[in-house]
Amino acid sequence: MSKRPGVCLVTSGPGLINALSGMANANMNCWPLLVIGGSCERSQETMGAFQELPQVETCRLYSKFSARPSSIQAIPSIIEKAVRSSMYGRPGACYVDMPADIVDLKVNVSSIKYVECCMPPPVSMAEGSAVCMAASVLRNAKQPLIIIGKGAAYARAEEAVRKLVEQCKLPFLPTPMGKGVIPDNHPNCVGAARSRALQLADVIVLFGARLNWILHFGLPPRFRPDVKFIQVDICAEELGNNVRPAVTLLGDINAVTKQELASKNSLPMNYFTVFYHVQEQLPKDCFVVSEGANTMDIGRTVLQNYLPRHRLDAGTFGTMGVGLGFAIAAAVVAKDRNPGQRVICVEGDSAFGFSGLEVETICRYNLPIVLLVVNNNGIYQGFNADTWKEMLKFGDATFVAPPLSLLPNAHYEQVMTAFGGKGYFVQTPEELQKCLSQSLADTTKPSLINIMIEPQATRKPQEFHWLTRSNI
Ligand code: ADP
Ligand code: MG
Repeated sequence: MSKRPGVCLVTSGPGLINALSGMANANMNCWPLLVIGGSCERSQETMGAFQELPQVETCRLYSKFSARPSSIQAIPSIIEKAVRSSMYGRPGACYVDMPADIVDLKVNVSSIKYVECCMPPPVSMAEGSAVCMAASVLRNAKQPLIIIGKGAAYARAEEAVRKLVEQCKLPFLPTPMGKGVIPDNHPNCVGAARSRALQLADVIVLFGARLNWILHFGLPPRFRPDVKFIQVDICAEELGNNVRPAVTLLGDINAVTKQELASKNSLPMNYFTVFYHVQEQLPKDCFVVSEGANTMDIGRTVLQNYLPRHRLDAGTFGTMGVGLGFAIAAAVVAKDRNPGQRVICVEGDSAFGFSGLEVETICRYNLPIVLLVVNNNGIYQGFNADTWKEMLKFGDATFVAPPLSLLPNAHYEQVMTAFGGKGYFVQTPEELQKCLSQSLADTTKPSLINIMIEPQATRKPQEFHWLTRSNI
């Protein structure tokens, strides 16, 4: 609970043996503990001394470090080493043996060199390439699951882990002592469906939880045979126990989670990152117009409405190309009713293509609409510029663009600047935040923010297919 070692003093022989279960318990649980045991006089060792026991050897199995100072002068440095070992790396129990003759010995104080207590444990971080790999495995997961173990609690990673869970909308399962890192009543907690969550997950991130009996060794039938584990642990020897992990992240959970968050926020963004940042800034009373494929589908779940009749999208007839017209209508209504009220029009790049030149109308009437084009170079999914060039032999006479892809990196914002509005091209969450807040603050001009996202980004897979007459 404090990250600092507890200290336990015991008498020799049976006293120490009685402490062994507690010591083993602390050591197995990765709890920092310093046990100091009295022991028989050194000169009587092997002679059958009172409560004689090879104590340093006895404790070795239940501790990370077990030693006896060779002299009084050695006590400070041995204690320092024991305290340090109990906290550094994977925390655990340490034993220091104090023979009776050392307890009674008299020395000159000036012969003792005091040793300062160790510094707080250094924070270790995972390899950058492993962090990227973990992010990509997680991004491609269909049924991801976060397991929060007690290691996450020790690392005081609650804030970082919670951010990851919420920003990536990941379900999580706490282990018994991982409970409370994120509250059990959090909507993403799947504790009530533990077996099912373990059984169906295709990618599992282990935040400081060993694949021991508590987690059924990470093996079938409790887990899918093809489940990919991303293991985060401070102890290298733990990585790879019982399963072959897809990615290992060696380091402190708090630090590694922050690395993971930074990489998640790195480029290119996906729909969820974009909508997360948009949602954060949207005024509660704004009109939200949206159309597109993934843009509209995902936007429906993430972008919130608080007022009736303030959401306009492709509607009953699934009509695309209506977005800018709807936004213009909403802006005209707002102008009459409440001039401060904003209209946000969230378009996919293909949806914008249907009636993008309505931007001219918007500028002609100077309606301060904020247009967001969520640009993935295509309909549903597109390709990045490099893939486009290489795989598709762009420029080749035989070149045929895949039917759902659009030209990569189109600068739609220039449609807005062409007519005198403000245009922004953004690739990072920071740029998006900045341009969106500028656009929202400016009620004198329309603006268009062209937001580049991962061309292959998609929504979460659905658990069912279209309803057909045959399955009614
Ligand atoms: P649980 O019982 O919750 O499943 P375990 O005891 O099996 O948890 O696993 C806890 C893991 O957490 C251990 O493997 C330990 O090495 C690791 N650990 C402890 N502290 C940290 C930390 N600060 N950062 C990363 N891993 C940690
Ligand atoms: Mg698109």
